[in-house]
Amino acid sequence: MHEIALAHAVWRQVAAEMEKHSDRRLTQVRVVVGELSGADPESLEFALGLLVAESEWPHAAVHVRKEPVVLVCRTCGREYPMQEMRLRCPACGGADVEPVRGTQLRLESLEVE
Ligand SMILES: [Zn+2]
Repeated sequence: MHEIALAHAVWRQVAAEMEKHSDRRLTQVRVVVGELSGADPESLEFALGLLVAESEWPHAAVHVRKEPVVLVCRTCGREYPMQEMRLRCPACGGADVEPVRGTQLRLESLEVE
């Protein structure tokens, strides 16, 4: 499962961040998964949960949120949500578009106490 490797990568970031705040206790991890990132949010949440359970902060909560895809038109600059089978810009009809959101998997925030 691809998400296990991803969970390890996210967890390395969490551990590196917690090393800077070694007097704190981790209570919550928030991760954003873009719809085009290729990762399944539920599998990732599950895999991260396993890593958390084995960590020094076994009671920390894990939240994985799905991020919808937003496209930007390179011709007119309009940003719009991607809809199925509709890749043309709704403002100018241009087809030169690229995703600006929803392609990445990233650590959104950590909560500590
Ligand atoms: Zn446009």
